[in-house]
Amino acid sequence: MTPFNAIDVRKDFPILARSFNGKPLCYLDSTATTQKPKSVIDALTAYYSQSNANIHRGLYALAEESTNLYEGARARVARFINAARPEEIIFTRNTTESINLVAHAWGRKNLKEGDEILITAMEHHANFVPWYQLSKEKGVVLKVAPLTAAHTVDLDALKKLLSPRTKLVAVTAMSNVLGTIVPVEEIIAMAHSVGAKVLIDAAQSVPHFKTDVQAMGADWIAFSAHKMLGPTGIGILWGRYDILDAMDPFMGGGEMISIVSVEKTTWAQVPQKFEAGTPNIADAVAFVPALDYLDRLGLDAVREHEKELLAYAIARLSENPDLKLYGPLNVEKQGGVLSFNHKVVHAHDVGTIVSEEGVAIRVGHHCAQPLMKALKVSSTVRASFYIYNTKADVDALVSALARVNQVFGLASGGSR
Ligand code: PMP
Repeated sequence: MTPFNAIDVRKDFPILARSFNGKPLCYLDSTATTQKPKSVIDALTAYYSQSNANIHRGLYALAEESTNLYEGARARVARFINAARPEEIIFTRNTTESINLVAHAWGRKNLKEGDEILITAMEHHANFVPWYQLSKEKGVVLKVAPLTAAHTVDLDALKKLLSPRTKLVAVTAMSNVLGTIVPVEEIIAMAHSVGAKVLIDAAQSVPHFKTDVQAMGADWIAFSAHKMLGPTGIGILWGRYDILDAMDPFMGGGEMISIVSVEKTTWAQVPQKFEAGTPNIADAVAFVPALDYLDRLGLDAVREHEKELLAYAIARLSENPDLKLYGPLNVEKQGGVLSFNHKVVHAHDVGTIVSEEGVAIRVGHHCAQPLMKALKVSSTVRASFYIYNTKADVDALVSALARVNQVFGLASGGSR
């Protein structure tokens, strides 16, 4: 039983009424970005038409209102992930910027030649490239924990790669390609036992599971509003206050200073220290109704809904002998993401053909080229689910995939 009615949810998302090629839009790409409910779209218009002013500077009532809205958004995000205090929430542009912030403001200050950073083979480029760059710049050793045959992180191998030289473990909480849910609490405990800090790429977990940063015990987590009903252009870095306080600034400029002079310039307190210049006020403010929407449904219900869709999708796609599915293929270990390939037809052709049927799925390397190498493929087709998807979307995907064989003149089983 679905704990909420996705058909009702769909009515709150204007874009889902669109059609393409005369076919209703079947949106199965929420891992890339989610659609936005009317409350979020309206909040953007309301901010610009009623409350727009620059924050933290003006003494007039409008500036105060805008500041309160922006700082209110910070407090709302803190409450959503159970942060100990709102100052632990840093607004950035996205997950990518949040991770780069840590690489610059913590990594460059604290890491030296011979230190080690440990990641996994299923990281998104956002949690790979900043560490690669740091390793090249500082002579830091970048180590990569492999996957098991079941497409989970090999925890035994990861444990063996930890050493007293490991200064940072940076792992995703859920793969954006395989949907694999990573046991981050276990990894955090292992990493802390050797004195390493832990950064969790939570881009695919905060939107889909209840997150309690105090219970989780990481040192930083990074995520993006646009993957959880919110606007693009606003991301979050959460960090433990004492760690953020000890970090250097990221970018220099207005808002992030205390006193500026040629002789000596000092920094503002956290979080302003990390928010140089005019921030993305409107999108932070419009993120609030997104969080309200998810809390109204309940994150446990969101997870149940996605489990149900994933189970159905695994069953339906497994009926097609031409498809090879990736990932744990177990709803307890996998979020609402399903990657697959046609055994004969290239992923890009699959994507193009199903698009003609109104089905929006992602094809390619999904910004995870090291993972593609581990899977020995160049690309996959990926369907992903969120609160507004129904079994009818899975059915539409299955029907659209049936056309692939017709177009290519293939019999079922892939032979011509
Ligand atoms: N990490 C993961 C696991 C992701 O899925 C994504 C987005 N696909 C990112 C990081 C990067 O997010 P953004 O593009 O919002 O910075």
